[in-house]
Amino acid sequence: MLALYKIVELGDKILKEKARPVPKITPNILKLLNNMSETMYKNGGAGLAAPQVGVSKRVIVVDAGEGLVELINPEILSYSGREIDTEGCLSIPGIVGDVPRAYYVKVKGLDRSGQECVFGAEGLFARVLQHEIDHLDGVLYIDRATNIRKLKQKEV
Ligand code: ZN
Repeated sequence: MLALYKIVELGDKILKEKARPVPKITPNILKLLNNMSETMYKNGGAGLAAPQVGVSKRVIVVDAGEGLVELINPEILSYSGREIDTEGCLSIPGIVGDVPRAYYVKVKGLDRSGQECVFGAEGLFARVLQHEIDHLDGVLYIDRATNIRKLKQKEV
């Protein structure tokens, strides 16, 4: 059974906390993953981190147009290049800002079967990974952004 989570918004202290590593992949973690991706897709997001649904665990889901990626205890192993682009966040509705990020990242994490995966990502995919992994450290894109502005409908 899939369920939608309520998205935690700016002002809730969980968004500023460092999330805890997941020691073991339990049925509850699988349920969390399932419901997080459902919530991400229903809200039209490209990524979602567990703290955004009120769960302080190191779990993210990302779909930047290359299919669903679920990661448990993700870490960025290396960064290269730099690009500034516009970002928004489901937890901070109605605004966007310009954020410098690495163009390329190499990421490590566990998949839902507990298998370690290491992969490279670039462009939007790399950006969303950096944004979501930041959430696990209590960092929001507005902490890094310039030119924060009201979202115009055409930027959605
Ligand atoms: Zn976000």
